Amino acid sequence: MSLSKKGLAWIIPIGNELLIGRIVDTNSAWLARRLTFLGYRVIRIVKVPDDLDEIIEEVKRGLGRAEVVLTTGGLGPTYDDKTLEAIAKATGKSLILNNKALKMVEEFYMKRDLPMTRERIKMAMLPEGSRPIPNDVGAAPGVVIELEDSILASLPGVPAEMKSMFEKTLQPILKTRAPPKKVWECSVEIRGVPESSLAPFLEEMARKYPRSYVKSHPKGHEIKEPILDVRVLSSGEELNEVKKMSEKIIDLIIKEAKRLEGRIASKSCKAPD
Ligand code: ATP
Repeated sequence: MSLSKKGLAWIIPIGNELLIGRIVDTNSAWLARRLTFLGYRVIRIVKVPDDLDEIIEEVKRGLGRAEVVLTTGGLGPTYDDKTLEAIAKATGKSLILNNKALKMVEEFYMKRDLPMTRERIKMAMLPEGSRPIPNDVGAAPGVVIELEDSILASLPGVPAEMKSMFEKTLQPILKTRAPPKKVWECSVEIRGVPESSLAPFLEEMARKYPRSYVKSHPKGHEIKEPILDVRVLSSGEELNEVKKMSEKIIDLIIKEAKRLEGRIASKSCKAPD
């Protein structure tokens, strides 16, 4: 594989509703966090509409740059669900009836006493060489395709379906190919210090410790009632080393916050899932 793709991930949430702002894209945030904890570096999250050419273009771009490309949404039975057609076109494969997927879809509707229709069979038309991912919650199976130097997977848009499929099927596959990286995150809630006052120190920490990601999230009011959620995420080969790194940085931040007369409301450090 091209070395520059190794360990990189690209997420493509699909749906017109995301672009008109009717739905907030919570799927990507959830996936990005999971991928990060698995040791991948998510380099893009790109929302695309239900448009065949737009999806093809973005999937190709993702496959050219990242080892893991995930799409969510557009797997259902309706005319605007174009994800699998786009995946097939982007990877130069044809869409064929997948028997395993057909069984999954048939079972789902049989249990509910509903017949198979053209729209329902469509959910079992998968790109050649792909594997269906069982869907415990809804009807449409997900899809995973292991390509020469990338893994491409399509999950449904419904968050409960997407999460269950990721955890049960995709995560074990991704774990085995994940870079041997350990991740450790510490967070602290600081009260009484405006974000702009702590900013120079956080910038210094980010410069001094480039293998850690240091970020503040303001929650209260900058002046009247400043509340800051500060996070330090470190990654590296050794768990002990990344633990030490995150905890050392968060302690330095706490010291600085106290010097600025802030109060520490809570502190926690978390192992990856
Ligand atoms: P289904 O299997 O149910 O047909 P689908 O794969 O076709 O799902 P969509 O039709 O794209 O998925 O989306 C179904 C619903 O899932 C949306 O109406 C929305 O409520 C939710 N959804 C879709 N994408 C996202 C997203 N990125 N973040 C959060 N929710 C989403």
